[in-house]
Amino acid sequence: MVMPSTRAAEFASSLDRQLASLSLPERLRLVAGLDGRAVFTTSLGIEDQVITAAIGLAGLPIDVSTLETGRLFKETVDLIAETEERFGIAITRFHPKPDDIDAYAAKYGLNGFYESVEARHACCHVRKLVPLAEALDGARFWITGLRRSQSGNRAATPFAEYDAERDLIKVNPLADWSLDEINAYVEVESVPINPLHRRGYPSIGCEPCTRAIKPGEPERAGRWWWENDEKRECGLHVPEAAASAIPTPA
Ligand code: SF4
Repeated sequence: MVMPSTRAAEFASSLDRQLASLSLPERLRLVAGLDGRAVFTTSLGIEDQVITAAIGLAGLPIDVSTLETGRLFKETVDLIAETEERFGIAITRFHPKPDDIDAYAAKYGLNGFYESVEARHACCHVRKLVPLAEALDGARFWITGLRRSQSGNRAATPFAEYDAERDLIKVNPLADWSLDEINAYVEVESVPINPLHRRGYPSIGCEPCTRAIKPGEPERAGRWWWENDEKRECGLHVPEAAASAIPTPA
């Protein structure tokens, strides 16, 4: 459903206020009951596993999708099937286009993302952003596992906001959750999680771009650790101006 952007922004703002006082299942149920398709994209990280569990346990009509970038940890890939089985849901896999990967490799080298921010953003573009656009095609609501306390970049994350670039409403039902609350939910509901979390990886992305963190480091310090903090996002959740600066490989 396409809405004029002003109306969509007002609707998102009203939804943000409604979601604030609700529990996680109530937040998801409210969004699932609205007019328009809702898509949740999971990276299989611990926050996303909580949302998947809440969707599966309540049997909500929300499409669950994941971006199989081709560079994920084996533990992450294995968790997709385990999660489907545990909650009786189907997780749709979206893959990068082989031609895009070939073009990236020809221009930057397969692991060129270590060499420059441009090359890193280009890799995230072909392996994540292009498949994400496919996953969100036709969606009115995009549900994510963003939390305010994950990093300074995410400190102002609302419960709902209008994503003008994608013309949809982004819903962040865990925006106000702490990591302790996430861990408690996992325990209570026996949610399967990536074994890497217990090996020092609070935030898990592609294998070449994720390392374990040291005690006292911020949760996302192990993601693209060789870059400056302000650039350390993959383009999925950056503002419009920054996202539009992400180059497309030839
Ligand atoms: Fe490429 Fe690393 Fe981005 Fe994954 S996280 S898409 S490997 S640059």
